[in-house]
Amino acid sequence: MKTDFTYDLLIIGGGISACVFASKYLKNNTTKKIALVEIGRGLGGRSSTRISKGLKGWKLNHGAPNFNISNIKNNLLLKSYIDELLENKFIVIDDCDSFFLNQDLNSETQKISKFSCGVNYLSLDSMSQLSQKIIESNNLKRRIDFYFQTLIVDLKFNYNEWVLTSKNGDKFTSKYLICSTNLLLHKRSLNILNTNQIPLRKAIPLNCDKKIDLLLKTLDNQSFIPRLTFLIYTNENYSYKDFYSKKQRYFYLKKDLEKKFRFERIIFQQQDNNKLGIVIHSKNIEFINSYLKAKDEEVFKQKIIANFNKLFEDNSVVNKLTFDEKISIMQWRASQPSGIAVPLSLQVSRKYRIGFCGDWFEGDGFGRIEGSILSALILERKINDLIN
Ligand SMILES: Cc1cc2nc3c(=O)[nH]c(=O)nc-3n(C[C@H](O)[C@H](O)[C@H](O)COP(=O)(O)OP(=O)(O)OC[C@H]3O[C@@H](n4cnc5c(N)ncnc54)[C@H](O)[C@@H]3O)c2cc1C
Repeated sequence: MKTDFTYDLLIIGGGISACVFASKYLKNNTTKKIALVEIGRGLGGRSSTRISKGLKGWKLNHGAPNFNISNIKNNLLLKSYIDELLENKFIVIDDCDSFFLNQDLNSETQKISKFSCGVNYLSLDSMSQLSQKIIESNNLKRRIDFYFQTLIVDLKFNYNEWVLTSKNGDKFTSKYLICSTNLLLHKRSLNILNTNQIPLRKAIPLNCDKKIDLLLKTLDNQSFIPRLTFLIYTNENYSYKDFYSKKQRYFYLKKDLEKKFRFERIIFQQQDNNKLGIVIHSKNIEFINSYLKAKDEEVFKQKIIANFNKLFEDNSVVNKLTFDEKISIMQWRASQPSGIAVPLSLQVSRKYRIGFCGDWFEGDGFGRIEGSILSALILERKINDLIN
């Protein structure tokens, strides 16, 4: 059944930036009702958690496993928000072990990854739960209608109102629109949504708004890093060699080692069912291509285990895996933006009452949760100025 829904404000996407924006917006606009439309089954987006249906008790953070703030001192807006998350006990400072492996397989103290500089934070539950808690705080959830498994494929700006159409024909109408994803603004939408024009360009033709023109032009130079994550549901008796009780343990590989083993980072994740999960990230293009071309996924999975065992052959804390561990593979076509970041000055169009947030904006946090959170906090202030 096709239905029409009208709201004060619509948000496309349910990642962490959308959740931060929605919670702040509703706190400051107590009478408003909003809708959040998300293609996934729940909140979190690229900072989410795989809850296995078949394997009971397993929750693996398969995108970002934690997050880091590179320089909090010079940013009061971000600092006060992080303090709020700490006070609410949604996050804690991440004091889990990190190993930075060099080409001799020795561990160095120097942080080698953009994902580990500054202060690191850990969700007290899973990463998906962090987004949920943010949106549920202050009893805000009842003022949001969630539409999950709903893909927006078309945008129109008609008679001063936004009309969004989902793949199954539902229509969502509102005066204000927030896009927390840039899919509908970027050329990759042509393939993914099987359309012949970028949806935002279709809604706002060339030369109608300089800001939108510049935004789309900038995004034309933004590309995305593909990644694979391998989720390993280890066997019954798998454990560390030593005694270690913290929630996660990270191994980062320096460039040469990453090239040799095809792994970027390995995250051990302690499960509530006392088992030890392992998530391996790879952004090695040859490895990704060999996975995409693999005729037999099982053979590829054996390769993953062989590489893991070779990497940790003489490691003092990690045990080898057996070749019958269960592995699930997640393909991220656009795990992180790269190339040109979008200037924050292009975040809002007053004329079209549309705003944007996410990790694709300029700043220290570009391509990371830090950027997503900060852009959402800044956007919320701009939207309030626009409405009031
Ligand atoms: C494997 C991996 C590892 C990472 N590791 C780290 C890390 O260690 N530290 C760190 O800081 N960052 C990391 N990142 C990046 C981090 O996950 C992102 O920066 C952050 O989650 C982005 O949040 P967001 O809200 O901006 O976007 P997203 O999480 O992408 O949210 C956008 C949402 O919009 C939805 N959507 C898109 N188009 C539509 C549509 N047309 N209709 C409906 N819904 C739509 C998407 O499904 C998505 O849920 C990692 C990312 C990946 C994939």
